[in-house]
Amino acid sequence: MIRHIKTAQATVAGETDGGITEAVQALLAQVEAGGDAAVRDLSIRFDKFDRVSYRLTKTEIDSCINALSRREREDLDFAQDQIRTFAQAQKDALKDLEVETLPGVVLGHRNIPIENVGCYVPGGKYPLLASAHMTVLTARVAGCERIVTCAPPFQGKISAKIVAAQALAGADEIYCLGGVQAIAAMAYGTETIDRVDMLAGPGNAYVAEAKRLLFGKVGIDLFAGPTETLVIADDSVDGELVATDLLGQAEHGVNSPAVLITNSENLARDTLAEIERLLKILPTAAIAAKAWEDFGEIILCDTLEEMVAQADFVASEHVQVMTRDSEYFLNNMKNYGALFLGARTNVAFGDKVIGTNHTLPTNKAARYTGGLWVGKFLKTCTYQRIETDEASALIGAYGSRLCLMEGFAGHAEQANIRVRRYGGRNVPY
Ligand code: NAD
Repeated sequence: MIRHIKTAQATVAGETDGGITEAVQALLAQVEAGGDAAVRDLSIRFDKFDRVSYRLTKTEIDSCINALSRREREDLDFAQDQIRTFAQAQKDALKDLEVETLPGVVLGHRNIPIENVGCYVPGGKYPLLASAHMTVLTARVAGCERIVTCAPPFQGKISAKIVAAQALAGADEIYCLGGVQAIAAMAYGTETIDRVDMLAGPGNAYVAEAKRLLFGKVGIDLFAGPTETLVIADDSVDGELVATDLLGQAEHGVNSPAVLITNSENLARDTLAEIERLLKILPTAAIAAKAWEDFGEIILCDTLEEMVAQADFVASEHVQVMTRDSEYFLNNMKNYGALFLGARTNVAFGDKVIGTNHTLPTNKAARYTGGLWVGKFLKTCTYQRIETDEASALIGAYGSRLCLMEGFAGHAEQANIRVRRYGGRNVPY
């Protein structure tokens, strides 16, 4: 039986709130029509940030890198090494393919990097420099030729740490631009910014909606909006750990859901008490408390099967599993952005340093996609070749008849001419 110990007060997270789509549509149209001037207007309006050119010069980029302390540089390098190592291993596992499916019939595919990509690094509430490793570095490992990256100013200034992370990850062009104006500039192009073929990276509800609306005009990685977290736990862990992991992600924003699924009523109660205690001391409690109040949930289940079914329904971006048998959830869950198995690891490791990508599906997009990875920056393009006359005549005969079943006389003739040329006969219908 399933019971709610705490229910969410609001039913939908920010990205689907009425008004955002219309507002973003208007901003996109403004940039499409107005180019650089519109980008500048919007940057002044939303970020109070004005520059003649929003592109950072080499001197500015170098000074951001040089401003890092030794410790900061080592920490950044460590994180980027972990992310590069895993991304490279994922790329190595993606082999091109060629197979002979019938004698003389050769089919294959090649994984071709997308040439121009735009990587968004969020930075409104926090300077999310980790997103630079996750997007820029992953695109670099994939082999993309031109990598453009945008991040908003943080508290009215260029964030030196974001710029350093973008540069160290291998970006070719770095712009201090945020929100819809950044996304639109990269997608449409302006007088000074060449358009890209694909947009990647997480962001707030405006950024995520802009990417969604632009899909088709450009490719997008996935819908990666306001952060969500789900903890699945039993009484092998305590409420302090669970509460820490829930609030640690709720602090992302007031529209960030945090959910606990458990089969222990004691743990549920203990977690509620710990959340109350931690909200008195967490420096980001104002945000986390609102997110917890509006979108926090505790769901009590009897069985592991019920826990899996509930978790698959939530389809959360992050799922932290802290149960006696965490492998059960790895083997049975279907809808999640990323799994964090066991109490030793946690979402913050994944967000910042362990090596898996933190750009992950939100708003139930985990039903149909995983997170960002090198494969998202590659186009898997097929090819075919026929190496014998017999094979051409054989496929041509089937093909010709199948074309006529659909009423395509021209297609049928394309096939039939091969049967005549390479097989020396016509197709009897
Ligand atoms: P952000 O960079 O995404 O957005 C800041 C920009 O929003 C500003 O530059 C501004 O131009 C624009 N903006 C603000 N108010 C606006 C308005 N009223 N109308 C139009 N534009 C407006 O930074 P953020 O706001 O801190 O959000 C980062 C988000 O990224 C968080 O919601 C976080 O949860 C999410 N995130 C998601 C993932 C994921 O993989 N799904 C990963 C990391 C972060």
